[in-house]
Amino acid sequence: MAGELNPFKIAQKQLDDAAKIMKLEKGVHKFLREPMRVFEFDLEIKMDSGKKKKFKGFRVQYNDARGPCKGGIRYHPEETLDTVKALAAWMTWKCAVVNIPFGGGKGGVICNPKQMSKSELERLSRAYVRKLADKIGSDKDIPAPDVYTDSQTMAWMLDEYEKIKGSHQPGMITGKPLALGGSEGRDAATGRGVSIVVREAAKNKGVRLKGAKVAIQGFGNVGKWAAILLNELGARVIAVSDSRCAIYEPNGIDVERVVAWKEKTGTLEGFEGTTCITNEQLLELDVDILIPAALENQLTKDNADRIKAKIIAEAANGPTTPDADKIFEKKGILVIPDFLCNSGGVTVSYFEWVQGNDGYYWGEEEVNEKLDAILTKAFIDVVSRMQSEKTSMRTAAYTIAVKRVADAMKLRGWV
Ligand code: NAD
Repeated sequence: MAGELNPFKIAQKQLDDAAKIMKLEKGVHKFLREPMRVFEFDLEIKMDSGKKKKFKGFRVQYNDARGPCKGGIRYHPEETLDTVKALAAWMTWKCAVVNIPFGGGKGGVICNPKQMSKSELERLSRAYVRKLADKIGSDKDIPAPDVYTDSQTMAWMLDEYEKIKGSHQPGMITGKPLALGGSEGRDAATGRGVSIVVREAAKNKGVRLKGAKVAIQGFGNVGKWAAILLNELGARVIAVSDSRCAIYEPNGIDVERVVAWKEKTGTLEGFEGTTCITNEQLLELDVDILIPAALENQLTKDNADRIKAKIIAEAANGPTTPDADKIFEKKGILVIPDFLCNSGGVTVSYFEWVQGNDGYYWGEEEVNEKLDAILTKAFIDVVSRMQSEKTSMRTAAYTIAVKRVADAMKLRGWV
């Protein structure tokens, strides 16, 4: 992976930038540049053919000074340890910036879930938990769904873990189905979080949200909910995309109908009354708010100069490279950094953990209100720091998050 695009190198570079500004002690900085624990292992399962097959699995516990590690598990054919390490680092800063009592972690398995049967995926998920049973748990490290894992995966993992422990352990994993102790509001939480920080960013930039033009790259869980909720706030979603096509309508796309279309046909292609453009063109549209909600490294030095949005809300993890970041800073574009922008999901995961450990479950309205309060406060704290330190929003968010983690490490006497 090229240096500029290696996600772990990017995560380290972002930390280095923040460390310089906040004059972080050398020892603390060195500690925070690397994960505390990395587990790399083989998972051998029987395939439906009767043959055994080995898969490579990872779990990275980046830092747990502030509480148990928290982070999803990805199943992907191109998973790499560096990606998992970067995502685990970002989880650490994400939990710290919204001030929930978790550290950061992430897991992954190199596999192609699209070519595996449901029972093979079940065996793989159970094998993953067996390998890590003494290293994860409600008070150690709490996994969740991520790319190509879902609430069913979490249900299998919970069941395997509870069999090993011989007791109910609802706090060991989040993103569970509602019937097994999941939280109301979890499905929409990340997109809802995006809509909350965009609402606050619009106030900050003097952009009137009513009628503001929005383009969203990616129409999966996050992109779809961001579109629905921003539309409810009066914004005009003029372009959305998936991996196959981007659709554009300058007067605004009927969000409710496009959601139904995508659910029915599995694609955005052919949605009536819209023009088909490329994903690259979508990023460069003349909009007020651009929301990359698909993949890493979408905004690079090659297209940053052509981006016209006033606000970029990084719903995806790592959509902007450091070179592009510099260009956006010069252009005065407000970039809401990923680990703040997409923190709605982990915040509601935290609520799920609290509810599971308490055995007392809240209604959806209560979940949404509490989410709004936490994210609004986090956004305002970061913007105040950005203004007082005259820095980018990303660096401001880093300085807040890193200080919280560093303080916890110092109090524990680790550094
Ligand atoms: P998803 O799999 O539900 O959706 C991804 C979407 O991106 C799909 O619509 C897919 O078609 C589209 N896509 C894939 N390749 C594309 C391409 N080349 N160009 C344009 N679109 C493309 O995933 P998701 O859960 O919505 O996650 C999206 C991003 O948000 C990821 O970076 C993920 O890590 C991040 N994220 C998700 C959550 C969550 O709770 N789901 C939380 C935090 C961060």
